[in-house]
Amino acid sequence: MKIKGSVVRKASILVLGLVLAFFAGTSFYQSRRLKEPVVMGPGVSRVLSLSRYFPKIKGSINDVHVYFLEGKEPGGTVCVLGGTHPEEPSARLAAWLLVENAVVEKGRLIVILSANRSATTVTRLGGAYPPDYTIETPWGNQTFRMGDRWSNPLDQWPDPEVYMHYPTRQELAYVDIRNLNRTWPGRPNGTLTEKTCYAMTRLFIQEKVDIVIDLHEAELQYPVISTIVAHPKGEELAAMAAMVISGTEGFNIGMEYSPEALRGLSHREIGDNTPAISLLFESPEPFLDATRGRTDRALLLEGKDDFIVKAGKHGLLFEKIDETGWPIDKRVGRHCSTLAVVLELWSELYPERAVIVEKIPRYAELLEKGTGWFFTDPSHASSDKIRYE
Ligand SMILES: [Zn+2]
Repeated sequence: MKIKGSVVRKASILVLGLVLAFFAGTSFYQSRRLKEPVVMGPGVSRVLSLSRYFPKIKGSINDVHVYFLEGKEPGGTVCVLGGTHPEEPSARLAAWLLVENAVVEKGRLIVILSANRSATTVTRLGGAYPPDYTIETPWGNQTFRMGDRWSNPLDQWPDPEVYMHYPTRQELAYVDIRNLNRTWPGRPNGTLTEKTCYAMTRLFIQEKVDIVIDLHEAELQYPVISTIVAHPKGEELAAMAAMVISGTEGFNIGMEYSPEALRGLSHREIGDNTPAISLLFESPEPFLDATRGRTDRALLLEGKDDFIVKAGKHGLLFEKIDETGWPIDKRVGRHCSTLAVVLELWSELYPERAVIVEKIPRYAELLEKGTGWFFTDPSHASSDKIRYE
């Protein structure tokens, strides 16, 4: 009788485990395959696959769409990267708004929405993060994959004991071999993440990109926040942009120098290894702070958290926060306005390489109307105008 009881108990635990695994597995499977529609706006002239620049990534999850917005008049070329770290949603959303709204008058804007698409298909392992988030629009809701900082281990595994950055051989955290912002300039026969960077580096060189802008968000306890991190080639441009923005756009932004001793980052390696200037923008994202409370969709989008407010009262933060939090519209607006001002200054400084872009929603507009206002309803768009990320 005793043996039978223990068998029954073990069998029920096994069944319970299988039931939980089934529901969790279904949820992971569905969120990995969630379709994110992009309705290409009037500014998009063509869409290429990243493998066009490096065929070895063809057919991989990171063979992503590259959107071209081209003006009638020739000029310079600026490339915007969203989704380097997909768990920083304002970066992808700001890039999304460009593809759906921006119109280029002169020069070219190249936009990538999912620079590390693999990382959009997973969340922090064991972190119980929400799998997705939803933006309200005038015509309904649009849902996006939450994503992670690192490529999905299903696409790149196992991690090495030691990660040596290529080509400098600097030793970095082992997990950062899956971090797209630690694997620049990339390696043609490296890991998926390294190959993705390599493909984009080839794109920047081949398309004669003048400026690469990598969009990010940061925790409030991290000193590099609310800022433009600039490669030495872009210091003057970034410093001027920071001054103009702080005077005219309704928010403050700083400027930092890209440290030479820290390798693998876009603001350092793209500037060193291609003719382009590289800049990285940081918006505040309380969701990433270690001392946050409940880690849910509301925190991701509203950025309200009593524990972080308390940390601020103890002087532990590098950015202000109060009860109003850091809503997503503010964070997207910061990226859009910063980009718009950088383009305007660049075009004034170098008229022959100008990139003049209309219809980039600005900070004030995003606060007034909300991010969702700028999305187009895919159910009313013709199918040739829709791409899925
Ligand atoms: Zn980031």
